Amino acid sequence: MRVIIVGAGFGGIAAAIELRRHGFDDVTLLEAAPELGGTWHYNTYPGSACDVPSHFYSYSYAQRRDWSRLCSPQPEILDYLRGIAADFDIQRRIVTGAKVTACEWDDAACQWTVRTEDGTERTAAAVVLATGQLNQPAMPRIDGLDQFTGHTFHSARWDHDYDLRGKRVAVIGTGASAVQFVPEIAKQAAQLTVFQRSGNWFLPRRNRAYPAVLKALFQLVPGLQEARRQFLFRYMESITAAIRHPSTVGWLGRLRAAVFMRWQLRDREVRRKAWPDYTFGCKRVLFSSAFLPALQRKNVELVNEPIARMTPDGPETADGIRHVVDCVIYGTGFKTNDFMFPMEITGTAGRSLREVWAAGAHAHLGITVPGFPSMFILYGPNTNTSGGSIIFYLEAQAGYLRQALCRARDTGAAAIDVRAEVEAASDREVQARFAGTAWTQCDSWYRDGAGRIVANWPGYMREYAQLTRTLAPAQYQLIHRAEETDQPEPVRAEQST
Ligand code: NAP
Repeated sequence: MRVIIVGAGFGGIAAAIELRRHGFDDVTLLEAAPELGGTWHYNTYPGSACDVPSHFYSYSYAQRRDWSRLCSPQPEILDYLRGIAADFDIQRRIVTGAKVTACEWDDAACQWTVRTEDGTERTAAAVVLATGQLNQPAMPRIDGLDQFTGHTFHSARWDHDYDLRGKRVAVIGTGASAVQFVPEIAKQAAQLTVFQRSGNWFLPRRNRAYPAVLKALFQLVPGLQEARRQFLFRYMESITAAIRHPSTVGWLGRLRAAVFMRWQLRDREVRRKAWPDYTFGCKRVLFSSAFLPALQRKNVELVNEPIARMTPDGPETADGIRHVVDCVIYGTGFKTNDFMFPMEITGTAGRSLREVWAAGAHAHLGITVPGFPSMFILYGPNTNTSGGSIIFYLEAQAGYLRQALCRARDTGAAAIDVRAEVEAASDREVQARFAGTAWTQCDSWYRDGAGRIVANWPGYMREYAQLTRTLAPAQYQLIHRAEETDQPEPVRAEQST
């Protein structure tokens, strides 16, 4: 069974390892970038690091005991992924510079055709779309954006050739990326103006280097590494509890954040501007002990007046002030609702995934979509986490898709397709589980244009692990090739439980 994986980031590599371990030898990863890494290839901005502790932001089966810091910097994470790809014999299966433009299911041949930008076509029995939710930089909707005559770039495509020293710099956006790079560039720029649309809730993250003695203990004391992972797992589940129960656990989370922020924000004016006006946990809670102090530096100004338009000199705010700058850095996040688009995905009977998702993206467990046989999405709809490690989810998804493909392989089927009623029911359940949670209490990138929350998993990591642990055969139908059954069309086999 030939499997094509689109994307060689944490997700694609997790899927490749899982499939290889279970006897799928014909696995190819197509990666648009010149090397593996996904988000950790692209996000090289100053201060880029994970904000989930590395002992948990890593594969469970490839643990490192010598992480340099609580949350490793981007080069260390990229090195880790390179090492994994080499150790698990994945590297040689990655085709870099291969940007996939279309995946098309052929009903007669019961296979996928995968096209890349250079015109190459490859066929496969299964496709795994591992492009993630956070891979296409989003530019803000601001009038006259292209009027600005100075230098610009997005945080996910950092221009390392542009020297910020002595420059007047504007940063638009104050999300998880900006809070990491603003403290770093504040040390270089002559003047830094940070444009904030919404304030954030902050929890501390000092990110100190692990002392040598602690690293040695992780190496030498049996069980310590596992105990650390267990502790981190529980800590992160408690953040989800705070989001799920805003008026009880969430109230405690808010109190913890408020005390920390009050202590950090000594400047009354900055405090007033930076303070969030929505429920704790509705948007991503940010972990930084450096951002709020950076906003109070003499060379930094926080502007929370909305940007009315972009002028040739810089952003002009609604109060009529023109902020003259040399460079604008967009920390404005990603086109999260686009998932794998603009890739054209065509399933059975020529149906396009774009049409199927016209009213919002949805997939069974975020992984399978009816009418798209043997197509699996990693980090798909409703699988983002606000209080966990995405690596945990990716591993669960890799295990699940591997079970689906084993089921097809072991039964001699050409493909496997989730039943429409199963997917519809699981989507209803997911949406219902948001009721009463903090996620519903503000606007955020977790929602699509119609307001439906399509990014996040509404529950705990342990629930997702439980639901994906064992694939239920009854939830799927097997597709057999027509010639195998003397039928003119491919045959969908009914399944017994
Ligand atoms: P983001 O969280 O979507 O932040 C985008 C920022 O741009 C927000 O502050 C947003 O304001 C602002 N914005 C958008 N349009 C604007 C406009 N017209 N005017 C002013 N401000 C505007 O993007 P991100 O910071 O790149 O992070 C995206 C996600 O990536 C995170 O939530 C996280 O899951 C992940 N991430 C993780 C890490 C890590 O683990 N280390 C680091 C970075 C990112 P609003 O809040 O009002 O929309």
